[in-house]
Amino acid sequence: RTALCWLRRDLRLADHAALAHAQGAGRVLAAFVFDPAQLSGLARDDARVALIWHSLLDIRQRLRALGSDLAILHGDPADEIPLLAARAGAHAVFAARDYEPAARARDARVAAALATDGRALELVKDQVVFDTGEVLTRESKPYTVFTPYARAWRAKLAPADAGSLAVRLAADAFLPWREDGAVTLATLGFTDNPIGRAEAGEAAAAQRLAAFEAKIDDYHAARDYPARDATSQLSAALRFGTVSIRTLTRTALAHDGAGAQAWLNELVWRDFYQQLLWHFPHAATESFKPAFRDLPWPGEDSHFDAWRAGQTGYPLIDAAMRELLQTGWMHNRLRMVVASFLVKDLLIDWRRGEAHFAHHLLDYDLAANNGGWQWAASTGCDAQPWFRIFNPVTQSQKFDPDGAYIRRWVPGLAALDARSVHAPWQAKALPAGFALGRDYPVPIVDHAAQRERALALYGKQP
Ligand code: FAD
Repeated sequence: RTALCWLRRDLRLADHAALAHAQGAGRVLAAFVFDPAQLSGLARDDARVALIWHSLLDIRQRLRALGSDLAILHGDPADEIPLLAARAGAHAVFAARDYEPAARARDARVAAALATDGRALELVKDQVVFDTGEVLTRESKPYTVFTPYARAWRAKLAPADAGSLAVRLAADAFLPWREDGAVTLATLGFTDNPIGRAEAGEAAAAQRLAAFEAKIDDYHAARDYPARDATSQLSAALRFGTVSIRTLTRTALAHDGAGAQAWLNELVWRDFYQQLLWHFPHAATESFKPAFRDLPWPGEDSHFDAWRAGQTGYPLIDAAMRELLQTGWMHNRLRMVVASFLVKDLLIDWRRGEAHFAHHLLDYDLAANNGGWQWAASTGCDAQPWFRIFNPVTQSQKFDPDGAYIRRWVPGLAALDARSVHAPWQAKALPAGFALGRDYPVPIVDHAAQRERALALYGKQP
């Protein structure tokens, strides 16, 4: 018997739910489908496409060494998957469950197309530790507040939940196969991207994990300081599944300390947002809280452009926004601060910021990104209260005290001392040769005034 394993955001061969289940059902042929609906609108050199591509090449090479192959296809999965299943004589197709509304609709179409030939699409849990129905309130309702969710999640966690789902990498476990290899980055209409390429594959993820393990014990104390590089930077690896969530959970459990506990808590946030998106798909496009659905956003387009480009005149904001443009990653503290700034200082709809992040983040994930934006905008279910507004200068003084992070990304401020680098317009003395307005922008808005406007805007809602 033959089973097809359809890879999506689980681009690895180790600890792999869909592969493990497929192997239980027969000899496996693995496949990946580039879906034009997902590729359209991306830049030609999108780093995520390169990350996916090189991860696939790695898998393909390893499967070819076993006499099998990775079928890399391009087209509507509702056509491609049933065709390949028929060609391979597969009786079932296995894939990891995906919680995004568009993915759910796609999977329903693929399941329907397969069913016309009497084949089943078997969706299995892989992306999260606990699935959408596994951590519920006493009334069997989904949690909408994180703290009780996390408590229930931790109480439920048994070693088996983080156990490895072993894949047998042997020739007789896979279907002898050879694809023509006609799909390439170029035929897809994309060019390579060194950032995506560097993050591709299981080995790159394993390296990041090993580097992080060496500092995990300090995570709770250092995680909020972007200059310290104290977080794992495994978000893209998790997003594309070059490492499994179970492997990371096991790592957290193996280190018994405040650092590992705090890190595990972040993995719980990740599960929390996935189940939230599944139970409340409407939040993907509108405010979770009905009261804030019709906020009139008076912000200006020119301010949105300045925010995107890292030209707001607030050094911490600009450093973070420039890091995003250059690397596709941003530290969690800064994601919160720049999101708050866009919404509550510039009074711009959080969905425009969400879309900018979606375009640039290598780790872009609808559930986490939407959850983060709705948290910062106070529109989410368990969000920052609307009257709490980050002060971008105080945040800068607190979390980048000597300005090292700012200087890394805004070289124009390199000569400013640790006092003036957070708010050059307030500095008593600036270095000779430095002119505010020429070497670095004057602030585009006044935080104190905008704070009052935001309070009035939110306060008016029912
Ligand atoms: P670590 O601190 O090492 O955390 C480990 C892992 O836990 C992360 O890799 C991530 O998978 C998960 N995680 C951590 N914090 C969160 C969180 N708050 N919510 C959900 N999962 C979390 N994360 C994304 O993966 N994709 C996004 O598109 C995304 N957009 C965000 C937008 C905003 C406005 C905010 C405030 C947060 C967003 N996050 C997003 C969450 C978080 O900022 C990143 O996961 C984190 O910065 C990634 O860095 P790391 O891997 O070093 O994290």
